[in-house]
Amino acid sequence: MISPQPHIGSYYAASANEIPDYSPLRGAQSSDVCVIGAGFTGLSAALHLAERGFKVHVLEANKVAWGASGRNGGQMIGGISGENRISKSLGPTGESIVWDMRWKGHQIIRERVETYGIQCDLKSGYLDVAIKPRHLQTLEAEFTELKGHHFPFEIKLLSKQEIRDTIGTNAYIGGLLNMGNGHLHPLNLCIGEAKAAVNLGATIHEQSPVLRIEKQSKPVVVTEQGSITADFVLLAGNAYHFLEPKLRGIMFPVNSFILATEPLSEDIVCEINPQDLAVCDPNYVLEYFRLSADKRLLFGGRCNYFGRDPDVIKRHLMPRMLKIYPQLAGARIDFSWGGTIGVPINRVPQIGRIDNNIFYSQGYSGHGVNVTHLAGQIIADAVAGTFDRFDIFANIKPFTIPGQHIFRRQMVGLGMLYYALKDKL
Ligand SMILES: Cc1cc2nc3c(=O)[nH]c(=O)nc-3n(C[C@H](O)[C@H](O)[C@H](O)COP(=O)(O)OP(=O)(O)OC[C@H]3O[C@@H](n4cnc5c(N)ncnc54)[C@H](O)[C@@H]3O)c2cc1C
Repeated sequence: MISPQPHIGSYYAASANEIPDYSPLRGAQSSDVCVIGAGFTGLSAALHLAERGFKVHVLEANKVAWGASGRNGGQMIGGISGENRISKSLGPTGESIVWDMRWKGHQIIRERVETYGIQCDLKSGYLDVAIKPRHLQTLEAEFTELKGHHFPFEIKLLSKQEIRDTIGTNAYIGGLLNMGNGHLHPLNLCIGEAKAAVNLGATIHEQSPVLRIEKQSKPVVVTEQGSITADFVLLAGNAYHFLEPKLRGIMFPVNSFILATEPLSEDIVCEINPQDLAVCDPNYVLEYFRLSADKRLLFGGRCNYFGRDPDVIKRHLMPRMLKIYPQLAGARIDFSWGGTIGVPINRVPQIGRIDNNIFYSQGYSGHGVNVTHLAGQIIADAVAGTFDRFDIFANIKPFTIPGQHIFRRQMVGLGMLYYALKDKL
């Protein structure tokens, strides 16, 4: 038996607007679409589908937003990882198709926050920082590309000194300010989207781990106490997925951890982030940080540790935070937690089908806040019979990582080693 778990002890869980309970699935039911997993992918799709009048059931093993969606860095980052590969696969029109999709998730999030009145501390403002000269070249190219597309938000290249003035650290040699990106409270966004879907007629069942899918002309999704017969099924378990070994085997699980300081004084906030920007470095084994609404520093990084002991997470992350902000040496750490991200080897998000009417979407490589919202729309289009964007992703074949679903723990280590080496090159 699989035991459902509560939300991890994060800053987000402690500051959630409300955490409603949805009852477990009991008995046999039917639906147009059964979604497995109530993170951003599953709920984004469910809300798109409910808006279009489909009958939707969402089955969640634990709680709504229990996975990466309720515990991530909250950084709303533009772009889709692996987008060069996607645009190359499409020929001459590829670049403009990908450009439209790059910002789609942001647009969906902003519209939903507005339409459904979701209180999730959504802010605009994002800073990509450079550690090495080659990072600066990439940011300059990004700046030129954004300008070329008449990007409708403020963008600006910053020098080392301007970075120092903007975020109070000498750790970076330059950066790109982008007011089109931003940050938000991911758990509150996810809970708000769940509520909006339910208000439009969707049904959510928590504590309902799906044990198997019986593949028939109408698939039957089976939990311990019930089942749903549906026209379509969406697998949206991402790095927490435990049903189809084939899907587990096409991504590296990469661990990322976050700590939250106590609320910082006005003086410190003025010194380290007066413009309230989200900040991210370009490494694979990266560091990312921002302020929360109550002015804590939320500092995150990927690391090779597989566990949830808050003290161990603190010990791993504190030195990295203090290297960037020595002025926080005396700050109390109130929360530390972690989670798992799905990273495909070719970095391209994996949207496809394992059977005619059984779809999946996963593997956003740390861009999930944005791309899950795009993916939900693409899946809703597919259910409604439009496969244009679905096929773009489905036609890019993922690499399989042998043994990934068996040697999970070892694979996390191997994945981190692989990406750490790439950073050093
Ligand atoms: C620490 C951390 C920091 C991150 N920071 C950022 C960031 O700043 N910006 C960004 O864009 N992205 C970030 N990400 C990545 C982002 O959070 C994810 O890409 C995104 O949330 C994935 O959403 P999802 O819905 O696909 O998966 P998840 O949110 O992981 O949800 C999957 C859900 O499926 C459920 N499930 C799995 N199997 C079953 C089953 N058999 N039956 C029922 N339910 C099942 C799980 O319980 C889980 O709730 C971060 C991730 C982590 C872990």
